[in-house]
Amino acid sequence: MPKYDYDMITIGAGSGGVRASRLAGGYGARSAVVEADRVGGTCVLRGCVPKKLLIYGAHYADHIADARNYGWTIDARHDWGALIDNKNAEMDRLNGIYMRILKNNNVDLHEGRGVLEDEHTVNVDGKRITAENILIAVGGWPSTPEISGVEHVISSNEALELPSLPKRMVVVGGGYIAVEFAGIFASLGVDVTEIVRADTVLRGFDEDIRQALDEEMSKHGINIMSKTVIQRIEKKENVYRLHLENNDVIETDLVMYATGRRANTENLGLENIGVALKDNGAIIVDQWNRTSVDNIYAVGDVTDRVQLTPVAIQEGAAVSETLFNNNPITVDYGDVPTAVFSTPPIGTVGHTEQQARQKYGKVDIYDSKFKPLVHTLSGRDERTFMKMIVEPVSDRVVGAHMLGMDAPEIIQGIGIAIKAGATKAQFDSTTGIHPSAAEEFVTMRAKRPDPDEAKAAD
Ligand code: NDP
Repeated sequence: MPKYDYDMITIGAGSGGVRASRLAGGYGARSAVVEADRVGGTCVLRGCVPKKLLIYGAHYADHIADARNYGWTIDARHDWGALIDNKNAEMDRLNGIYMRILKNNNVDLHEGRGVLEDEHTVNVDGKRITAENILIAVGGWPSTPEISGVEHVISSNEALELPSLPKRMVVVGGGYIAVEFAGIFASLGVDVTEIVRADTVLRGFDEDIRQALDEEMSKHGINIMSKTVIQRIEKKENVYRLHLENNDVIETDLVMYATGRRANTENLGLENIGVALKDNGAIIVDQWNRTSVDNIYAVGDVTDRVQLTPVAIQEGAAVSETLFNNNPITVDYGDVPTAVFSTPPIGTVGHTEQQARQKYGKVDIYDSKFKPLVHTLSGRDERTFMKMIVEPVSDRVVGAHMLGMDAPEIIQGIGIAIKAGATKAQFDSTTGIHPSAAEEFVTMRAKRPDPDEAKAAD
């Protein structure tokens, strides 16, 4: 008779938790997953997937406008309710697929809220189940600053379910979620203002990319208010009044906050068993995703390392490979490519110019800004921007950044080259695909003047 009910109980059936528990089950381990909501997690139900579907939906507005000069006359109207209904139907389909994946891999699903009673026992709404190993994959939740009137604001969760579109909207924050939703609503005709406390959006990204996105978002009709802080929010009938630190007041019909996400570690029983947390509530883990308690692991957003679904999936897989497939692996966090589905989108991999200069001292910068072919006819005033950062001693490309149509699709491939250690000479010797935007990555030859050398010449 085994000592515990399971070899591993996973709390949280999101991307990381499902990958770990289904691999464990597939390798013959007795595996269970506990989920308080629907199976699928943030990415599938409240994040990446529904967000991207709304982006596709919103961008038809831009495509329709662009089609005019291509000879089309289109009398188009948008039905927001239909988009939301169809998006929700797709969520149901994906939820079903995830449920089947669990079943087909012999993973028991315990529906309810899991709380740790001791290091081997999880209480699921009054029912106790035990396991040799426990994996915490409970993700995160939108976090908002504690200002007066914050109860009036929505987060991305509600933005994905709005009953109707407002006329005006304020989006607060300058991160991934804020710029993505600002783009969706602006394309659908909402008058969008984005309030950021920094000098512009996407702090931490390459400075040229930040500036280029700021310009393109502004051209797209999004009013970016930088270095702006909201002190309090007041609701007057159906209008929200945002009182700013500089005493200005902005009126709007809807306020969405996207000011980061916090790990879901409250009331999970972690304090009962001494799992160590960071100051922001995220779980501290080592390279094996092991917490301060030996048999308890954590993966994904709850650890607040890289808050990206593919990384959570890699972490979940690493735990199960290590524990149940005699294949100890860790996740390589170097050169993780990422995309921001802003309007236009960004793809990026490797170092920003600022990081590269700090790490290598001198670096070579190649860049290109151009009107993409599609817009020579559409008439849309949109520029694509591409940038490569090269470490001159080894000639290795250590960063690639792109803002423009298809950037995420293009950068995925460039990510492989960078991960493989490709040099600028190897990029240059690759044949371009013509006509495409991507070919710029193998045809950029003009090196930007070195800022130090330019200064010395002055
Ligand atoms: P981010 O951490 O990306 O951005 C948070 C933003 O909110 C920053 O601009 C930050 O400003 C601002 N902010 C934080 N606190 C305050 C405050 N008190 N007042 C005003 N502004 C504030 O968080 P998101 O919520 O956008 O996204 C969470 C994570 O989810 C992302 O980091 C990303 O990893 C992931 N994600 C990935 C996506 C993708 O891959 N496409 C899509 C969506 C999310 P400042 O810069 O000044 O600190």
